[in-house]
Amino acid sequence: MADQNPVFIPGPTNIPDRLRNAMHIQSRDHRAPDFVETFAPVLRDCKKVFGTENGEIITFPASGTGGWEAAICNTLSPGDKVLIARYGMFSHRWIDLCERHGLEVQIIECSWGSGAPADQFEDVLKADNPQTIKAVLVTHNETATGVLSDIAAVRRAMDSAGHPAMMFVDCVSSLASVPFEMDNWGVDIAVSGSQKGFMLATGMAILGVSKKALAAMETATLPRTFFDFRDMMTANATGGFPYTPPLQLIYGLKESLSMLFEEGLEQVYARHHRLAEGVRRAVSAWGLKLCANSPELYSNTVSAIYVPEGFDSNRLTEHAFSKYGVSFGIGLGEMNGKAFRIGHLGSLTDVMVLSGLATIEMAMADLDYPVALGSGVRAAQEYFRQTAA
Ligand SMILES: *Cc1c(COP(=O)(O)O)cnc(C)c1O
Repeated sequence: MADQNPVFIPGPTNIPDRLRNAMHIQSRDHRAPDFVETFAPVLRDCKKVFGTENGEIITFPASGTGGWEAAICNTLSPGDKVLIARYGMFSHRWIDLCERHGLEVQIIECSWGSGAPADQFEDVLKADNPQTIKAVLVTHNETATGVLSDIAAVRRAMDSAGHPAMMFVDCVSSLASVPFEMDNWGVDIAVSGSQKGFMLATGMAILGVSKKALAAMETATLPRTFFDFRDMMTANATGGFPYTPPLQLIYGLKESLSMLFEEGLEQVYARHHRLAEGVRRAVSAWGLKLCANSPELYSNTVSAIYVPEGFDSNRLTEHAFSKYGVSFGIGLGEMNGKAFRIGHLGSLTDVMVLSGLATIEMAMADLDYPVALGSGVRAAQEYFRQTAA
């Protein structure tokens, strides 16, 4: 029965029946005409979610990490300099990937719990003379700390420094859950994946790529074969794929886009805000603290929550899983043992979120946390009652 329980990890997220059914298809010939008819509209409709009319959508059979790799190896050359701030596990892993590709990575170290430091980016870019930094890499939603960064502010910083670097944004755990405006923010590559806001199985990296990034491809010499943008775009132009496409995911993505548009993107974002706020009310009623340093950084897709001094967050998440059959996110990297995470993105309702809050409260009570049973659930209930449509 435990597989009836929702997961409260920030990806992979709960897959609604409608999308499981959409992915439940027999193998089909991707060279047959009906594949062309399916795939082209999917690529076109993805643009609305990325907020781009000028960019191209490029997908690969990969998890989000593959999307990072594709962004780098299509646009940069060995020894190229990139600027990136480290404020959590995902920005850390993107740095590692760049270093392994032989890029020169200029790192701004930030405390975990802070967001992208637009001011520091501006200072570094102004001091970059001659201008050798090729790209600024930003993690939009740092899933390890529950911090959402202001990408428009990074764009303003780059513009005010008069710097021509490209901007690459990891929006794996934010796209299709919180607003994303690729064109307005001047994002050159936005990297996402199928298993978070799109509510699908893992296995498709989905990228928005600007004209400027496509132009950079002409001179970029990092090796790429599987992740070659040009091969993919050339094949996609006739409805094809350079190799065997992940058909089930493509059919799933088609249906996912329909679900998102039926609800309305604005309503999807409002739902994520409301559910996240219910979780935050619970955290505050428990007397616990979020990792995010300040309210404007609070993520509407995941909350990272410090356990009280002297408690081990890994024991808490293990206990919730073994006794109640419910998964919560563990603390990653520096947060390991100190914080747990509640993923609140994708296919979720008030009722589902309340079940997760009730479960983690039971687990905390079992482990003698100084938290009153029912206090967080009650705070979220009050908020949901007041704000229900
Ligand atoms: C999930 C996630 C990724 C991608 O991880 P994969 O496991 O490779 O799909 C990248 N960045 C962020 C911020 C994420 O949350």
